[in-house]
Amino acid sequence: MPTGEFCVVCGRTGVPLTEGVCDACAAARVALVRAPKQVEIVLCPQCGARWSRGHWERAGLSSVLSSEDLAPFLEFHPEAGVRTLHWEETARSRSLRELRGTARVRFRGIERDVPLALTARVVARTCTDCGRRSGRYYTARLQLRGEAAPRTRRPKELRRQLGALWDRLREESRADWRQAVAWREELPEGLDVFFTDTLAARAVARLAKQRFAAGLVESASLVGRKNGQDVYRVTFCLRFPAASLAEVAGPPPAPAEAPIER
Ligand SMILES: [Zn+2]
Ligand SMILES: [Zn+2]
Repeated sequence: MPTGEFCVVCGRTGVPLTEGVCDACAAARVALVRAPKQVEIVLCPQCGARWSRGHWERAGLSSVLSSEDLAPFLEFHPEAGVRTLHWEETARSRSLRELRGTARVRFRGIERDVPLALTARVVARTCTDCGRRSGRYYTARLQLRGEAAPRTRRPKELRRQLGALWDRLREESRADWRQAVAWREELPEGLDVFFTDTLAARAVARLAKQRFAAGLVESASLVGRKNGQDVYRVTFCLRFPAASLAEVAGPPPAPAEAPIER
């Protein structure tokens, strides 16, 4: 480096210069990270899912905002590499949260902490899944039943067997099929399972038919019209042969014995 070259800002010599400015001065002069004044985060108050890029994601998350929520809003200098990002909530009202953060950024070999501040407007919106669950919304029902034949079986024992069978069916189902289960109801004649997704219900019904030799009857009923289209609810009635039920559920629990007197 030719002697006599110095940083035009701090005057230091003997350091690498970019357009006459040393790296330390350049890092201090450019905006390494920019945060908008206010951002909007849509989250489901029931399950914590975030609305992001047109769909709900990350259900089960805490409602505390984290780097994961805020990083997408930050703008980084093209030469800046983020090392760490920390946020802290400093004030909160019903819908607004004040956040202070620190971004540790590497720029031309120098690490610097950049202080950040922003206001997040939190919009509470019930996500699709929670809305469906709370509204008892369903599109399909799976009816689990014993064989149509004689009424010799005790209803309680039948429900125990169908419960065990349903547990097994759930275990063998795909995760997205299981997610479509909204709730289940025990009835004198068996077990009803309600689904928020008809394709998932049909897939589970077919699995039951193959796996446990169940009889399957599908029927649909018109429940209304939405956006000019008929809305149907589909019922899948599954009848399980006694042998399948006995195999999955095992023998009935032994009746409670009277304590032995000595
Ligand atoms: Zn300098
Ligand atoms: Zn939710």
